Amino acid sequence: MAQILKATDDSLELCKQALESSKVIAVPTETVYGLAGNALDDVALSSIFKIKGRPLFNPLIIHIDCVESAEKYATFNSLASQLVDEFWPGPLTIILPKKGIIPDLVTANLDSVAIRCPQNPTFLKLLKALSFPLAAPSANPFGYVSPTTAQHVKTSLGDKIDIILDGADCTIGIESTIVDLRDPNKPKILRPGPISKEALEGLTNVKFEQKRASDEKKLRGPGMLKSHYSPKSPLEIIPLNSLKDLISSGNKLKFAFIFQKRPKETTLEEQPNIYWLSKEGSTLEIAHNLYQLLRTVDTLNYQKIYIEAINENEGLKAALKDRLSKAASK
Ligand code: AMP
Ligand code: MG
Repeated sequence: MAQILKATDDSLELCKQALESSKVIAVPTETVYGLAGNALDDVALSSIFKIKGRPLFNPLIIHIDCVESAEKYATFNSLASQLVDEFWPGPLTIILPKKGIIPDLVTANLDSVAIRCPQNPTFLKLLKALSFPLAAPSANPFGYVSPTTAQHVKTSLGDKIDIILDGADCTIGIESTIVDLRDPNKPKILRPGPISKEALEGLTNVKFEQKRASDEKKLRGPGMLKSHYSPKSPLEIIPLNSLKDLISSGNKLKFAFIFQKRPKETTLEEQPNIYWLSKEGSTLEIAHNLYQLLRTVDTLNYQKIYIEAINENEGLKAALKDRLSKAASK
């Protein structure tokens, strides 16, 4: 069974030794916990795919400690440099032409590579201590809700790895924004995330095309697969403000109901199968709590989970809308 290690100098040294001997460990990031291995080592890479049950055609994101390291693995252009100057370290993953040193297992034989410099201080410290980048998909079985705490990782992958490095709960709580920058004149958002379309366009004055899940076959990435991030109980998204009617229409204890903000009525608040993602509706709080709550509710074996729709196509809400629709599709 995996040990959860607090981030001390000794435990970082243990992590370093494990990674240097081709082992795979779980690491904290500001987005979700990652399942990390040496991105230049086929043994470690194969283990990542095996432990997650992830199909080999789904490429991995590599994590580096600074822009200079990233330049060893990918060919930058000026748009990429401008974006990483602003948003790294942070939840922005960029796709660029790869350099020869990157193994084909990382990129699923594509000639591009996905790179991110994370912000979580524990993960950054570990990366700085290593002489290689870390490939790290989310530390969950393929297709399930991503983990945002060390305990989540232990629950679903604890029997398959030895070390979970604890870097506290993920501050952001949903996966990074992924942008394809191979053609700097036509950048594309492959996965909406914490760095919004508006923020990308505002900084660069360039229009970013938003790719849809229906393009998934062409793009060959799991972030684009529709039934990713799903709980085991069926999840149904219902229009905002119609949850109360649904609850009052009969005895629904077999179902869970998730509000975006805490309902004001004490009768609702006290019902055990009523949940909320935030106290007042703050988007940051909703993002932070979404996976945590889906996982908690999913352990209670409800027949169905009803959740209020997120309708906005701007900012972080666009990313939340994307994750909800993925969680709801089977
Ligand atoms: P995950 O590691 O589960 O957060 O998912 C990794 C994401 O990275 C997927 O959604 C892919 O779309 C994306 N990805 C990784 N490498 C590439 C690549 N070379 N080209 C396009 N997408 C990529
Ligand atoms: Mg994932």
